[in-house]
Amino acid sequence: MSPDSTSAKAERDVSARALTARSEPVDAAALEAALRRHLRGEVRFDAGTRALYATDGSNYRQVPIGVVVPRDTEDVLAAVALCREHRAPLLARGGGTSLAGQCCNVAIILDFSKYMARILEIDPERRIARVEPGAILDHLRAEAEKHHLTFAPDPATHDRCTLGGMIGNNSCGVHSIMAGKTDDNIESLEILTYGGQRMQVGSTSEEDFNRILREGGRRAEIYSGLKSIADRYGDHIRRQFPNIPRRVSGYNLNHLLPENGAGSGRHRRHLRHRS
Ligand SMILES: Cc1cc2nc3c(=O)[nH]c(=O)nc-3n(C[C@H](O)[C@H](O)[C@H](O)COP(=O)(O)OP(=O)(O)OC[C@H]3O[C@@H](n4cnc5c(N)ncnc54)[C@H](O)[C@@H]3O)c2cc1C
Repeated sequence: MSPDSTSAKAERDVSARALTARSEPVDAAALEAALRRHLRGEVRFDAGTRALYATDGSNYRQVPIGVVVPRDTEDVLAAVALCREHRAPLLARGGGTSLAGQCCNVAIILDFSKYMARILEIDPERRIARVEPGAILDHLRAEAEKHHLTFAPDPATHDRCTLGGMIGNNSCGVHSIMAGKTDDNIESLEILTYGGQRMQVGSTSEEDFNRILREGGRRAEIYSGLKSIADRYGDHIRRQFPNIPRRVSGYNLNHLLPENGAGSGRHRRHLRHRS
C-alpha cells in the first residue's frame, strides 16, 4: 500500500469513528505523556494554562483538554497524529482575538503564535510573501513596507492578529474594501488534515486538477469530492446561497463554481503598493 493510500484509509477511518467517538472521553493523561515524549515544543496540561486558553476575544468559555505550543512543522505533524490516535479534537489558535468563540473548545489547542511566527520570505517582484501561520500582521506589514508594499486586509487587531487566524476568519478591515478580504489575497496554503494528509492547495487550473486526479490517493478524493459538490448542487448554490460580502462561518460553496474562479488557475498579486 502506498503512503498516500494508507493516509486515505486512515482519514476515512477517522471520519467513520468520529460519528461514534463523539461522546468517548479522551484519556488526557495518556495523550499528555505521548505528546511530551514526541514533541520538542511546549505541552501544557496544567490548570493555569487551561484557564488561560479557555476563552478568546468572545464571551464564550470552554476549558481545553490541553495546550500544545509547537516549535516547528515536525511538532505539528506529531501532535496531529497523536491526537488522531487518541481521538482527541483539535483546535488551531493564533492571536485568539476571535469574537464568536472560534478559538475556545474542549480540544487540544495548537498555539502557533509563539514559535511558528516567522516571515520566511518577501518577493517584491512577484509581490508575494511566505509566512508561518503564527506571523503577526503588523510584522508582515513592517517587512513589506521596506519594499513600499503592504498586505491590505487590516483588522483593528492588526498588532496581534496572525496570518493563520486571519485566514481562518477571512479577516477584513477598512482597506479590504479596496483590495479584498484575506481570501482574496492568498496565493497558496500548505495544509494538514486531521487524517494526516499534508498538501499544498491554491488556485487550480483544469490541467492541474486533472493531474491531481491522475495521481490518485486522498488528495484526489478531496478534489473530486469538491468538484462533485459543484456539479451536483451548482444550480442550487447559484439560486439560494446567501450573497453576503464576507463569509466567516460555514463553507464557501460559491467559490466552487467556475464563474467564481474555480478551475481557472488565476494568479494575483497579494502585496499591494502603498498609496
Ligand atoms: C476589538 C476587536 C476588533 C476586531 N476588529 C476586526 C476587524 O476590523 N476586522 C476583522 O475582520 N476582524 C476583526 N476582529 C476579529 C479578529 O481580531 C480578526 O478576525 C483577526 O484577524 C483574527 O486573528 P487571530 O490571529 O486572533 O485569529 P484567532 O482568533 O486565533 O483564530 C481565528 C480562526 O482561525 C483559526 N486558525 C488560527 N490559526 C490557524 C491555523 N494555523 N490553521 C488553521 N486554522 C487556524 C482558529 O481556529 C479560528 O477559527 C476584531 C476582534 C476584536 C477583539
